[in-house]
Amino acid sequence: MIRLVTDCPEFFSDLGDVLRLFYGDVTVSLAEGDVVFEHRFAEGAGVWTDTWTSQGRTETLSRPACAGDPLEVKRARKRQVKLGLYNLMKALTGVRPPWGSLTGIRPTRLLYEAMEAGMDADAAARRVEEEFDVSPDRAALLAEIARMQAGVREAAPGQFDLYIGIPFCRTRCSYCSFASGEIGDGKLVEPYVRALLREIERCRALMDEAGMALRAGYVGGGTPTAIPCADLERILAAAQAAFPTAVEWTVEAGRPDTIDAEKLRMLRDRGVGRISVNPQTFNDDTLRRIGRAHTGAETLEAYALARALGFDDINMDLIAALPGETPEDFERTLDRVIELAPESVTVHTLAIKRSSRLHEQLAVAGNGYGQLEPARGAEAMIASARTRLMAGGWRPYYLYRQKHMAGNLENVGYARPGKACLYNIGNMEETVSVLALGAGAISKWLFDRALRIERAPNVRNIEEYIRRVDEMVERKRSVILKPQSEKPSAREP
Ligand code: SF4
Repeated sequence: MIRLVTDCPEFFSDLGDVLRLFYGDVTVSLAEGDVVFEHRFAEGAGVWTDTWTSQGRTETLSRPACAGDPLEVKRARKRQVKLGLYNLMKALTGVRPPWGSLTGIRPTRLLYEAMEAGMDADAAARRVEEEFDVSPDRAALLAEIARMQAGVREAAPGQFDLYIGIPFCRTRCSYCSFASGEIGDGKLVEPYVRALLREIERCRALMDEAGMALRAGYVGGGTPTAIPCADLERILAAAQAAFPTAVEWTVEAGRPDTIDAEKLRMLRDRGVGRISVNPQTFNDDTLRRIGRAHTGAETLEAYALARALGFDDINMDLIAALPGETPEDFERTLDRVIELAPESVTVHTLAIKRSSRLHEQLAVAGNGYGQLEPARGAEAMIASARTRLMAGGWRPYYLYRQKHMAGNLENVGYARPGKACLYNIGNMEETVSVLALGAGAISKWLFDRALRIERAPNVRNIEEYIRRVDEMVERKRSVILKPQSEKPSAREP
C-alpha cells in the first residue's frame, strides 16, 4: 500500500492513477502505507512549483502559473501535479510508459486540443509527445488517427447516435466486466425484449420532441446474436421504424457460436451493413481457458457464411496478452485474420477489471498480471499488429485506453479506407450525443458545441431494468430536454 501526502488532495484519484502506471493495481491511501510519497506545492512570482519526494529521491517541477478561466487553471494544475509525480516515478524505476504521464481514456483529445489551437496533426502530435512524455510512436499513432478521422469525426447539428444493449451471452468470458449475464434458460429474454421495445417507443417520442435525427445505430452487448432470431428482429424492426434516418447500422455478432444463416439473412435484409465476428484468438486452448464456448474453426465458418451471404463490412476483434498466450500464438492469430481480410480489425490489449472472474483467478494464483513481466509480451504483440495491419492496407481510426490494461497500452480500431465505423468514432471522440437503451447502457448528451457532456445511466441489473424502464426514459428526458438555464456548468477537464 502507498501513502500519498499531498498539498493538492483534490487530485488524489488522478495521482493514484499515475502511481498505478508503474506499480500496477496498487492501493493508494492518504492516511497509511508502507511507501510514502510526499508532495509540496508552492506558488510565487507567477510560477507554480511542485516538489515530490520518495525513497530518498526528490524531483521538482516549476512552470509558469496559469491564470484566467477556473476550469483551465484546474486543468493546468492537474497536468503539472501529475507530471511532477510521473517524473519522480520515472527516475525511481527507470521505466518510461508508452503513453508517458497520460492516464486518461482518450489521448486523441489532447491531439485535437492542439489542432484546435491551429497546429496540423504532426505538429500537434509532437506537442503531445513533448508535453506528456508520450513515446514518439504513440504520438505518430495519434496523428494517423486524426488523418483517418478527418471528415467523419463530426456529426451534423441535430444528429444523435443510438446504442442498444442486449446483455446476454451463452457463457461468460473470464475477462468480462460488462453488464452481461449468461442467457441460461432464456427466461429473461422475452420480458427484456418487451422492456426494450417500450424504451424504444418512448424514446422515439423524446427524440421527436428534441427535434433530433439518428445518424448511426449500434447493437452491442453482451452478444446480440445470443437471443433468438425473431427477438433480435423485433428489436431492430422497432428501432429502425422509430429512427429511420440512420446511414449506418452495426450489430455485434460477437461470438461465432451464436451466428447462423437465419440470423445473418435477417440482419442483411434489415439493412445491417456492418457486423462483428470476433475470434479474440484462434488458439483453442486459450479460448477454453478464457471461457469462450467456441473454437477457431467455428469463427472461420461463421465468417465464411457472412461473406457468402453478402456482408462486405465485417469487423474482427482480437485481444493481445490473453492469459498463457505467447507472441507466437498472437502472430498465428494475426496470420489468420490478415488472410481473411475483414474490412476492420480491432486490436484490444487485455484489461483485467476488478469485476472480472480473471481478476479473482489471478489474485488467487498470486500472479502479478499488469506488472512489467506480461506487459513485455503485450507490447510486442500490439506493435506487430500495427506494423502488419498497416502494411496490409488497414489504417488506425480510433483508439481508447482502459484502466488495468496489460503494459498500460491501448485498444485500436483499424479499418480499410472508407470503412471506419461512424458510431465508434463518435462514441470514442465524444463528438455526437448517444442515446443508449437497455440494461447498463449510458446515454451521453453533448451541449455547448460538445464542451459539456451529461450522462443518463440505465440500471445495470436486468430485472431492475425491466421493472424500471419508464424511469430510465425519464432520466434521459430530464437530461435531454432540461432547459439550458438549469444545466450545470461546463464539464471537468
Ligand atoms: S462475449 Fe463480451 S459481453 Fe459476452 S461474456 Fe464475453 S466479453 Fe462479456
